[in-house]
Amino acid sequence: MGLLFGSFLNVVIARVPAGESIVRPRSRCPRCGHQLAWYENIPVLSWLALRARCSSCGLPISWRYPLIELLTALLFLACQRRFGWTPELVAALVLVLLLVPLSFIDLEHWILPQELTWPGIVAGVALSVPMGMGRVRDSVIGAVVGFLVFWGMEWLGEKIFKKEALGAGDKDLLALIGAFLTWKPLLAVIFLSSLQGAVVGSLMLLVRGRAGPAPDPEPESPTAPPPATPPGTESPQVAEGPGPVPKPEGTEPVVAREGDGKGEEDGEEEDDWEPGPTNIPFGPWLSLAALEVMLLGPWLREVLPVPLDMLFAGAR
Ligand SMILES: [Zn+2]
Repeated sequence: MGLLFGSFLNVVIARVPAGESIVRPRSRCPRCGHQLAWYENIPVLSWLALRARCSSCGLPISWRYPLIELLTALLFLACQRRFGWTPELVAALVLVLLLVPLSFIDLEHWILPQELTWPGIVAGVALSVPMGMGRVRDSVIGAVVGFLVFWGMEWLGEKIFKKEALGAGDKDLLALIGAFLTWKPLLAVIFLSSLQGAVVGSLMLLVRGRAGPAPDPEPESPTAPPPATPPGTESPQVAEGPGPVPKPEGTEPVVAREGDGKGEEDGEEEDDWEPGPTNIPFGPWLSLAALEVMLLGPWLREVLPVPLDMLFAGAR
């Protein structure tokens, strides 16, 4: 099931940032338009059998496709081991199905689309109903607190430091995480995501000169292949045309930590914002921390030293 859902998440990751339907049309090669037969669409195996190339034109197929399928499968397995066949398992699987695409979209496009986060917040509250009214209350509180904490940090950052520290979408993502995991582990999520993001971001800055991924390539780049992408096709990043990805309405680019101070005007739309070398997309780090807390919370509470284990007191 994880492999199959992972295959679907690849479609979500390719199409949602472009504002395209995730239901139709069927998957095609972005260069030659070759429509994938069912046997070319089997998770992981088809990628191996095709030797990572389009069967029609030989265009390379990114390793990201089987990676996301395997990742989703492993996370599904981990959720089942953690929760057994309970209502909590359903909520955990849905959270995985939201956090995986949000992370990869944020890594590539520096946005957290509200088409995913807002329905996700509703789903998080709705899926806590089978766990009792106490859980529903904690879930609603979690969504509100998650939103307000980052909203407050954003406000403070703008008023005091005159810098944008967080992207607009990070508020929605922390609200989503709060809706699924309740308010109790939110401090642990913020702690783990900041710590891991800072450590890895600093290492990347040292090694590569960039803390986060590079922005989308400039349009009209002379070395890029001609844009032969028919409308409504998937776009593996190796084959993507050079054009900028159209932003879905109502979403704003995610402005990550350690902003370099350009392109922000009191929360206005920031279409010109470009990630600087010290920026990192924060969505993947929040997602990773949420999964760690959900799957490893009780274990972390056991192994961490005394002041830190308090953070995981809410983990059951
Ligand atoms: Zn092709």
